[in-house]
Amino acid sequence: MSGRLRAGGRGGRYRVQYECELNEQQVAAVMHPGGPILALAGAGTGKTRTLVYRACRLIEDGVPPGRILLLTFTNKAAREMLGRVEQLVEHGGSRVTGGTFHAAGHRILRRFADLLGYTPRFSIVDREDSVDLMGAAQADVTTEIPSVRAPRPRLLVELYSFVINTGRPLDEVLAGRAPQFADQGETMAEVFRRYLERKRRADLMDFDDLLLNWLLLLTRHATAREELRRRFDHILVDEYQDTNRLQADIVDAMLGPERNLMVVGDDAQSIYGFRGAEFDNILGFPERHPGCTVLRLETNYRSVPPILALANASIAHNRRQFAKVLRPERSGGEMPLEIALPTPEAQAAHVADRLLELREEGYELEEMAVLYRNHAHSLDLQVELTKRNIPFRVRSGLRFFEHRHVKDVLAHLRFVDNPRDEVAFARLVKLRDGFGPRLAARLWDRLASGPDPVQALVRLEPGELALPRAATGSLAELRLLVGELSAASLLAQPGEAVRHVVESFYAQWARAHLEAAGARIEDLEQLALFADGYPDINTFLSEVTLLNDLSGEDAAVGPPDEMLTLSTVHQAKGIEWRAVFVIWLAEGRFPGFRMDDEEEERRLFYVAVTRARDRLFLVRPEIARDRYRVDVLLEPSRFLAELPPGVRELLAVAEAAPPDGLSALPAGGRYRLPGFVDPLEDDGVS
Ligand code: ATP
Ligand code: MG
Repeated sequence: MSGRLRAGGRGGRYRVQYECELNEQQVAAVMHPGGPILALAGAGTGKTRTLVYRACRLIEDGVPPGRILLLTFTNKAAREMLGRVEQLVEHGGSRVTGGTFHAAGHRILRRFADLLGYTPRFSIVDREDSVDLMGAAQADVTTEIPSVRAPRPRLLVELYSFVINTGRPLDEVLAGRAPQFADQGETMAEVFRRYLERKRRADLMDFDDLLLNWLLLLTRHATAREELRRRFDHILVDEYQDTNRLQADIVDAMLGPERNLMVVGDDAQSIYGFRGAEFDNILGFPERHPGCTVLRLETNYRSVPPILALANASIAHNRRQFAKVLRPERSGGEMPLEIALPTPEAQAAHVADRLLELREEGYELEEMAVLYRNHAHSLDLQVELTKRNIPFRVRSGLRFFEHRHVKDVLAHLRFVDNPRDEVAFARLVKLRDGFGPRLAARLWDRLASGPDPVQALVRLEPGELALPRAATGSLAELRLLVGELSAASLLAQPGEAVRHVVESFYAQWARAHLEAAGARIEDLEQLALFADGYPDINTFLSEVTLLNDLSGEDAAVGPPDEMLTLSTVHQAKGIEWRAVFVIWLAEGRFPGFRMDDEEEERRLFYVAVTRARDRLFLVRPEIARDRYRVDVLLEPSRFLAELPPGVRELLAVAEAAPPDGLSALPAGGRYRLPGFVDPLEDDGVS
């Protein structure tokens, strides 16, 4: 290493002691002067840590923090990494720019929206709203009842998104993912065109647009391209194995002449193929970036050797992978345990028992997690934990901002923020008595014929529409509320605006129409408090929608008390805990029943087990009740069964009472033959 780059030590030019904090391979990555750099390395080898220290080193060498762009898979990960950078090197002035691809795209697009036919105040629609909009686009195209079955809007959104994110032709995507609709490609393409038009007309972008439009800026608008390429000196990307084609193209197109790009990732942890991620991005990086430096990190700092041995033995079953060395740095350690329980209830009870035991041994709840394949697998456990007064946070499942009451209230804010937001309008008008879909559409057509539907609504003469009586009264109330919300004072006070919607109308409506209205109204008060932190409605709404982006982060800010984490494996990526339970390790559950790609499913198992530092528990119920309320025997997961004998021996099998004939079955159950898997098992991942 040249003297110029010597790190750490007394009298060295750096304050951070890089050589003490990092191993030799990591130091090489941190000190590397620049150009394209790839670190392809196994779990727990310090990839994320290396990025953090590289950002520090760059700052210490005088790169202004604001000229570093750090792209991560979740906004939370970005915040943690940036927090760490600030702890290590105090610096005034600008901050490192960090976040998900979607968040970064959003920030950039606000600045250049007009080049793309949008206003700088465009709104972002989430997945659910995209589905509504796609439904409307479909209705534009197929005006009559079709003679053959047409795909549902949800599937259309999925296919559309896949096409956009992978850059593959629609026909090919249809053949692979929805062959039953293979002959409807042309109609579908037309629906997608209408969908695009509708979004532009309504000044709306969906999540994919945040990437697609970003790339369009870079490829079609020379001035924007030049400006963006000069904007950042260094780009750092974590979890690069889960980028899709679009994201890889964006990163490549953002590079200035120095091509200062460092990406880190692990092909064995690529788990988003089902959504279009391509681990060829990481394997093909050297070809796309001739002259790139490839660095290897081969020491695992996270897990004790028995856990690592199990992970390595499992992933060895995959054929499509890049061979890597992964040596444990730690020594000793306890064996992972495989535990079979008779029923899901027994599984939940057992996990709770062990959690409390571990807590006695000094493991904080914060240091433990329970992981599963699908969100629905956590429900038994949630019940059990609640009974035992064990607090937990759920990193999967319905997020706060996806709840209907939250979306209902926010629709009001969205509409006054962006008067052309048809989706928001449709949502809020549906809450009013007397407005069915047809009448709502008629009202919208009327309002949208002018430049500003909000003002048009406020000024509407009641007699103008020849409304049924029920609708006349509710329209008057709506006009009043929208008029008040669009006043400048409330536009600048998002918290007050939320309160105003709730108090003037929604609380009463919720009590009449929704279950658990009390809890929902409390949620909305929380929402108002959260909104108080933002200077205006527009900033608040953008933040909220991005919190809710594809990374599926938990937006709720719970008390910083001691809390156990429950998470799908997908949401657990990149994180570590001292003790990890993986539950529902049975065929049909993990791997899931509708498994397109066994190797991806095995990578998911690999991600799960490599989250554990000290203790790993692999848990499965032997019998479960299926959708028809029939009890069926479950086979152990192939990921347990296939482990080689040497490793299986390591895997101490804990004693748990085997199902003792029918007596172990919950009352009312019937028996089925082993090997049956529930064909209706849900397979949502987040
Ligand atoms: P994953 O593949 O799961 O994303 P990773 O490669 O990003 O893992 P990190 O999360 O950066 O790995 O590091 C794993 C753990 O090892 C962390 O607790 C980290 O602080 C620690 N670690 C990494 N490198 C070192 C080192 N040189 N010295 C001490 N601890 C280290
Ligand atoms: Mg990492």
